[in-house]
Amino acid sequence: MTALPPNATIGLVGGGQLGRMSALAAARLGYRCHILTREVDSPAAQVSHAVTISDYSDPVSLRAFAEAVDVISFEFENVSAEGLDLLASIKPVRPAPSVLRISQDRLAEKSFLNGAGAATAPWAPVHSLDELQEAVARLGLPAVLKTTRLGYDGKGQAMLRSPDDLAPAFERLDPKPLVLEGFVDFAMEISVVIARGVDGTISAFDTVENRHKAHILDLTFAPARVAEAVSAAAQATARRVAEALDLVGLLAVEMFVDRTGRVLVNEIAPRPHNSGHWTIDACPASQFEMHIRSIAGLPLPPAVRHSDAVMKNLVGPADVALWPEILATPGLIPHLYGKAEAREGRKMGHVNRLFPRGGLPGEFGIRDALGVLGSDV
Ligand code: AMP
Repeated sequence: MTALPPNATIGLVGGGQLGRMSALAAARLGYRCHILTREVDSPAAQVSHAVTISDYSDPVSLRAFAEAVDVISFEFENVSAEGLDLLASIKPVRPAPSVLRISQDRLAEKSFLNGAGAATAPWAPVHSLDELQEAVARLGLPAVLKTTRLGYDGKGQAMLRSPDDLAPAFERLDPKPLVLEGFVDFAMEISVVIARGVDGTISAFDTVENRHKAHILDLTFAPARVAEAVSAAAQATARRVAEALDLVGLLAVEMFVDRTGRVLVNEIAPRPHNSGHWTIDACPASQFEMHIRSIAGLPLPPAVRHSDAVMKNLVGPADVALWPEILATPGLIPHLYGKAEAREGRKMGHVNRLFPRGGLPGEFGIRDALGVLGSDV
């Protein structure tokens, strides 16, 4: 496909904040967005040209949506295989359905990653309690048992510490099959967001460091405070994965750095990612612009960073209650997603704080710079 001309329409599946920020980036490039979502008054639809409100598996809606747009991408990955095939039979789908099928299924994902030469924690498929017992005998405890599909933000997983944990965890986690992973005693969690264009050009943002609270991303530090060799290994891994997938679009690669400095991939997401939100304010072209450029067939600029940054998520009612203070704090760059209801654990917005390149302060400096949001650093 040649480049999508201005005023063309990009179809985005999913109505959340990733779609909202992609749509804002698309608007700056002169495109319109049409959102497909189940949700009325979704964050993405609030800033878009058109919306189809429908279940993701309804063939009539999927067909009408595909016919109304010029190219299709995602901020939400869990569309059925049949739905993806239907969309792809009408308009270009980027990233390709084959990429989504891999990222939708942890077993397919891990086989693919290992086959592409990307290391992961040791793992084993689990279809039965017997198989779980065998897997634990091999991988040892502690270990993490996860659903293969539909898990996010720590949902659909259980930590196994003693043999007594096996049966209850196996019973509780659904749908089956499951996957057992060896527990990684990580020194740090890092990620790389990488874009690959229609012509195979690659632009990768710097390796960043992520800290979670209650399984939800809390803070991202850009760049990651790791040895150069570790950052380079993460970049090489992301590039290898993007190429092996023959990716067209954006991909986030989440990794663990273990105590020996080895980089292990935890999971991949073929879409904009929460750990790339810092790029909106610290880079000339954000992850959302890279997403839109890559799926629209536009040239990809280098993913340069003009500033160091810390991103802090605003989660649930407690963080939203701080909004007036956030707005009144110099240096905090606020982003709110337009969600009407601030439920516990719900991502409501985020804040970016920039620092001169090379000038990311230590913990105390960051705490100070985040003001009312700094207490958890
Ligand atoms: P996930 O849903 O796979 O992204 O996992 C959510 C979080 O759980 C990760 O960001 C880690 O903090 C933790 N986690 C997941 N898998 C492992 C593992 N194999 N070893 C240690 N921690 C893990």
